[in-house]
This record gives sequence, C-alpha cells and structure tokens, in this order.
Amino acid sequence: MRVMVIGSGGREHALAWKIAQSPMVDTLFVAPGNGGTEGLATNLNIDITDHPAVIAAAQEHAIDFVVVGPDAQVVAGLGDDIRAAGITCFCPSKEAGQLEGSKSFTKALCDQFDIPTAAYGRFEDEASALAYLYTQGAPIVIKADGLAAGKGVTVAMSVEEAEAAIVDCFAGAFGESGASVVIEEFMEGEEVSLFVLTDGTAILPLTTAQDHKRAFDGDTGPNTGGMGAYSPAPVMSREIYDETMARIVEPTVRGMAQRGTPYAGVLYAGLMLTEDGPKLVEYNARFGDPECQVMMMRMESDIVPLLYAVATGSLAGHDVAWKDEFALTVIIAAEGYPGGYGKGSEIKGVDGLDNNALTVFHAGTKRDGTRLLANGGRVLNVTALGASVKEARASAYRGVDAIDWPEGFCRRDIGWREIAREG
Ligand code: AMP
Repeated sequence: MRVMVIGSGGREHALAWKIAQSPMVDTLFVAPGNGGTEGLATNLNIDITDHPAVIAAAQEHAIDFVVVGPDAQVVAGLGDDIRAAGITCFCPSKEAGQLEGSKSFTKALCDQFDIPTAAYGRFEDEASALAYLYTQGAPIVIKADGLAAGKGVTVAMSVEEAEAAIVDCFAGAFGESGASVVIEEFMEGEEVSLFVLTDGTAILPLTTAQDHKRAFDGDTGPNTGGMGAYSPAPVMSREIYDETMARIVEPTVRGMAQRGTPYAGVLYAGLMLTEDGPKLVEYNARFGDPECQVMMMRMESDIVPLLYAVATGSLAGHDVAWKDEFALTVIIAAEGYPGGYGKGSEIKGVDGLDNNALTVFHAGTKRDGTRLLANGGRVLNVTALGASVKEARASAYRGVDAIDWPEGFCRRDIGWREIAREG
C-alpha cells in the first residue's frame, strides 16, 4: 500500500513512525512533514490548505490511502474532497467534524442525546452574552464557538475577566470563530482524555491519556497546544470508563449516525471527572498532539488495518493490543512559545537518541544538510516507555538532557498528578 500522511507536527511524525512499521505499507509520504518524518518517509512540500494540490500529489504518487492529522484540515473538509477524488481517506467528514469545529454544535448534540456536559448559553451579540454572564457570576467559562487553535477558551475566575473575554471575542480576537460565543458553567475536577476509533457504527476503544496544557511547571502560565502527556491515565478507573462509554461516547456515535452525519475517525473525548461523574468538556475530531505520540509508542497492533477499517466502514471485529507499559512525552518548545519565538537555531544531540524505549518525535524542525534546525513553537517530543509513569518520565528527561539546544525550554513536571498518586 502507498500511504500519505497529512500534517507536519509531532502527531504526524508519530503516526508516520507507526504506519512505517506496518508490513502492509511499502511506500510512505508525509505532506508537508518535518525534519523527523524525512528519515522515514518522503516529505512532499505542498500547501495542505490547497485541496486540489493535495489531491494532485496523491494522484501523482499513486496513493492508496491518505491519513489526515490536523484539526484544521478535518474541519475544512479535506477528507470529503479526497474521497470525492476516489481515494480512501482516514478523516471525518466536514459535517461530522463539527464535533470539534463548532462548540455549539456539540452542545446541541449533548442536549438532544442527554450527554452529561456543562450547562451553557450561546450568544451572537455582546449585550446578550454580558446579560447572561451577570445572571451566572464567576467562575465561568467563555468560549469562541469555532476553531481558535486552542486559544479561544477563557476560564474566568472573576466577572471582570469574563467581561473582557466576551468583549474581545466580539471585537474579532478570533475572527469568524468568535462570531458567536458559548458561555459555560465552570466544572471542577481532574481532566482526562479517552480516545476511540469508530467507523460511524462500530466503536473500538483505544486508550486514555492526560496532557499538560499550561506552558510552565505547576500548570501555570499561558495555555499551549500541549507541553507533555502520558498514557494510560489510571485516574480513569474501569467504572468511570464504563460510564463514559455508556453516557457520552456511545450516545454521540449513535446520535451522529441518527442525524445523518455519521462520525468516522478517531473521536477524542476531553472529560472532566466531576463529583457528579464524568462530563464532556469537548470533542476533538483527530488524534491529540501530544497524546498521539504516547499512544503510538504504546500501541502493539499494526495501526494501518485499524485506520483503513475506519475509512472503509469495516471496523467491527477489529481489536487493538497495547504494550503493558506507560508512555510519557516531554515537549521541548522554542523560548517564547506560545508567544513570539525565533526560528533557525541549531539543535544538536537528537540523531542517534532513539532506542526501543525512547523516541524523539519531531514537530517544528527542518533539516539543512546534516544540521537540524528549529522551525516552530513546539519543536521536539521526547517520548519514553517505563513500568510506571515515574520511570517513563525519568527516561524521557534523560533523553531531554542529552539534547543540546539552548534556545529551547520544557516543563520539568510532566505526569506530576499520577506520579504523586504512584507515591
Ligand atoms: P476546550 O477547548 O473546550 O477543551 O477548553 C480548553 C480547556 O479549558 C479545557 O481543557 C479545560 O481545562 C478548560 N475548560 C473548558 N471548559 C471548561 C468548563 N466548563 N469548566 C472548567 N474548565 C473548562
């Protein structure tokens, strides 16, 4: 099979790394890829927002199967366009991608199918949003309705902070994505993510993970795309898992099919474990980044038959096996991220670090001859296996410390909640 992965982040390097191990795959392309995917696939330097260009590249290289990584391409309907050109594609439809692309779509689905989530209101003008805020008080959560690269959510501890977020949103801080605003009840608890594959009917549960969104140690500083993650997340007990599947995931998959927009892809449920049980925070319509990196590290099964079964509606009967170990990833980001940061500095000590229990997945890197250069905000994902979260973390930080890149920084406390529980 000739396979093409779409994207250029750590998630796509991890997917390409796993796909490249499949005996079903003889040729692998990544578009546009990064300095890490270059070693295991052919990078195609194309603009992935240009759907005809993606399709032309797939046709030129006789691609049998396309795997789409990033949320923006899911929400833009790249999968539909690729399928319309007659190529099998792992990517939810644009309609189904609204589970991620529109917060109000997902909230309405939760209402319709009685899926536990935060109480909310949706507003299309500032005055009515503010009026609702004053009836609710703080803490409260303000969300731009559309995709905002993880930056459209304000967890406001005061009414003033919430007011400012509403005003910013309607002033265009998130462009069209902020043309309507969802205001949510503040939920208290620990967050955890559950991933399942579904072809629209059958559901194959994958695994759990917990990530760290804040930039600095102790979960402080600004929100980022994610500074680290580990999997599995033992905080999701069997009981919580069963409740999540029965009350959240299964009704969502059934509900999407019932409304004529079946969801086929990886469904990533962001959950809050509240006193009243698990509640949905959000859905994502693709693998998490960095959660994908820890999942690929742990997955024992060949991933290609699973992704292909999702794309062809034949998931029933498939199973998935995992290594009996934890995986943990530490993101090394460019100094200044998630704000402004420089590009082009040289990173040393990465090549040759990988072994059976440690892989450095690249995100914002590129190669210049034999030199590896920083080329983005999140740059490297040092990912390790271990018998406990603590062991996986120790191993990941040994990898981090072997890398010589003065212009980078990372958190030093990835996995802290679980390590505290491990004692
Ligand atoms: P979202 O993009 O909807 O996942 O929101 C980003 C982050 O904001 C989540 O990962 C949570 O940490 C936080 N958050 C979102 N909604 C709520 C809520 N209703 N209550 C508390 N925290 C929330």
